[in-house]
Amino acid sequence: MLTDKRVLVVGGGAVASRRVPALLDAGADVLLVAPEVTPALRALADAGRITWVPRPFEPSDVDDVWLVQAAVDDPAAGAAVSEAAEARRVFCVRADDRTAATAWTPAVTRYGPVTVAVLGGGDPRRAMAVRDGIRERLVDGSLDAGPSQVHSGVALIGAGPGDPELITVRGRRLLAAADVVVVDRLAPGLLLDEVRPDVEVVDASKIPYGPARAQEEINRILIDRARAGRFVVRLKGGDPFVFGRGGEELLACAEAGVPVTVVSGVTSAIAVPAAAGIPVTHRGVAHEFVVVSGHLAPGDPAGLVDWPALARLRGTLCVLMGVRHLAAISSVLLEHGRPADTPAAVVQEGTTGGQRSVRAPLSRIARAAEEANLRAPAIIVVGDVIGTLDRGTNANTCTNDALRLHT
Ligand code: SAH
Repeated sequence: MLTDKRVLVVGGGAVASRRVPALLDAGADVLLVAPEVTPALRALADAGRITWVPRPFEPSDVDDVWLVQAAVDDPAAGAAVSEAAEARRVFCVRADDRTAATAWTPAVTRYGPVTVAVLGGGDPRRAMAVRDGIRERLVDGSLDAGPSQVHSGVALIGAGPGDPELITVRGRRLLAAADVVVVDRLAPGLLLDEVRPDVEVVDASKIPYGPARAQEEINRILIDRARAGRFVVRLKGGDPFVFGRGGEELLACAEAGVPVTVVSGVTSAIAVPAAAGIPVTHRGVAHEFVVVSGHLAPGDPAGLVDWPALARLRGTLCVLMGVRHLAAISSVLLEHGRPADTPAAVVQEGTTGGQRSVRAPLSRIARAAEEANLRAPAIIVVGDVIGTLDRGTNANTCTNDALRLHT
């Protein structure tokens, strides 16, 4: 760690732009000397995160620093920095000539309390590949990092929209440390293949009683297990705070004095349209996207969605939990002014092997979805963004989406 230790970076180009964030992450007090800098470095300077001295390097810049990063491509300039550092017995990393350097920057990864730093004999890609390999093995448990960090309480983790690769790095790490996993119907089942055999897996979708009692029961399971000293992971589809009742569970745990960690997830509201070739915004086409729940039909007195107001929007509308009421939803949008030819789509089981979708103008989407027999879980998308990427993908109007976007 370089906490509060001054590090001199010489040069303001691409190499410095890559190195400075890592130095800041390590706690360094960064002094940047370069006549010109990239916009990213300028932004850091403007924000007061680094000190930028806008002029060429001078040997006295090395006075009072712990480490020098020569981020210049000209070997003569690199040598001048090296010499000044050597004279003052300060280590110097050189981007232009690693053999002339007195220190090297490794590829780093952190896993709980463990930091892994890899040098690749001058080949940064090799170092990164080895580092990634070690990280994979730490995450899947095939490389034992010793007694694991002690976790406690409840972690509310977003598992992503369905593809097991779309969980976050933190989510996956905490899942591997779980003693108990309480899963939703929508959380990707494949992720559970990775948990240790001794982990208790509770399927929350199988809990009997009505929805309200079932939620109380889930809260009780989370709190009881956590109080018994076990680390409980509550794994939810998408993001825990997007129609996921994450807030209720958080409040119930907080009231019971159980600490909660929230790990955001990739929400289906954005990722599922993307998997069907639909960007929720596109320059010049949509400056807004609105995510609403369609679990109550428009007009239902218990509903909180202002459908007539949504009908007046020009942007993208993403309706979750709405297939059952699709006919009523499209009617209310048409009735209050959304044009009949507005493109619409329904995407079922997005990002999974079972992904299917249909597209049709808003006036015909309900019929098209019914004919294609689309069912929950599915997302309804309405807006001119549909079709904007068709030149770049082969998204068809009704397909088993064979080609998915991998971004
Ligand atoms: N917290 C979740 C949403 C939970 S509500 C999230 O952030 O994604 C459940 C609804 O999400 C489903 O009825 C469906 O409308 C949508 N959904 C979730 N996963 C989906 C998927 N893979 N494909 C299509 N829709 C999905």
